[in-house]
Amino acid sequence: MGNIMYGNTVSTVIKETLKQEITSYIDKGLRKPTLAILLVGHDDGSISYVKSITKGCDGVGIDVKLVTFEETVSQETLVQEIDVLNNDHSVDGIIIQMPLPKHINTQAVIECMDPSKDVDGLTSHNVAKMYMNQKGMIPCTPKAVMRMLKEYNIELAGKEVVVIGRSHSVGRPVAQLLVNENATVTICHSKTKNLAEVCKRAEILVVAIGRPRYVKADWIQIGAIVVDVGVNMDENGKLCGDVDFDGILEKASYVTPVPRGVGPVTTTMLLENVVESFKGRMK
Ligand code: NAP
Repeated sequence: MGNIMYGNTVSTVIKETLKQEITSYIDKGLRKPTLAILLVGHDDGSISYVKSITKGCDGVGIDVKLVTFEETVSQETLVQEIDVLNNDHSVDGIIIQMPLPKHINTQAVIECMDPSKDVDGLTSHNVAKMYMNQKGMIPCTPKAVMRMLKEYNIELAGKEVVVIGRSHSVGRPVAQLLVNENATVTICHSKTKNLAEVCKRAEILVVAIGRPRYVKADWIQIGAIVVDVGVNMDENGKLCGDVDFDGILEKASYVTPVPRGVGPVTTTMLLENVVESFKGRMK
């Protein structure tokens, strides 16, 4: 029977540290760190995500500046607003809530952000920094996976790691960050042959595919460490990850649950990125 790596406890500790850090800055007479959120339209999922980010920010003492636009907003108007935020010295981080409407070129808008305020790590500048193993803004979900492994003292150097999923937001950056830590990484995807056999090689398995309980216990070796990034609804409307948690817990040495796994740490990494950007600006 393995150990469960709880993200909510990791997240609580990090948030407490951030809160103390921010309080100490305010005590020194500095302003509060500030996150600007650009929200386009009225999508329920986006609104609820923005609410949860705002709650997280409130909890540690980060100010939120919410800038809203109608669905019909032009790309030019969005770019102009980003320019204003780039030049606003009281703003440390900018996030553009996705998805943007179809008439907007999302990547073009992303690229307008000042990379030092790109707290989601989406600009090509920050992506390149990560691939070059240089200091930059690391995207929140991959950073959360790495933090979970670190907090549970999982050694990465020389380890055989398999990542399932190659999206630009999760799979690829996770794989790169693991390589940066000297792991030996295999990336799998929907065209990978003999996926179960490849997974059996893994001392550490990271799964980010978006398929409920897809990875089964007989795909992993005894004692493997399993990080489940997936967030899915099963056929009964219950939240679950990409791995068969109950079965895998019997064989793995460590496994993250869903919910209360990588998810809460992801939001916390966003708060941490805002505070890092603030510290860089206050130097
Ligand atoms: P995505 O963009 O849809 O990418 C899914 C990846 O999984 C693709 O690379 C795809 O391969 C691969 N894949 C799909 N089915 C597969 C299969 N049967 N076998 C092997 N590979 C398969 O999804 P994503 O944005 O990376 O998100 C993945 C999951 O993580 C989702 O459940 C999402 O909700 C969750 N997520 C969680 C957090 C968090 O904070 N916890 C944050 C972001 C995302 P191809 O490239 O060949 O299509």
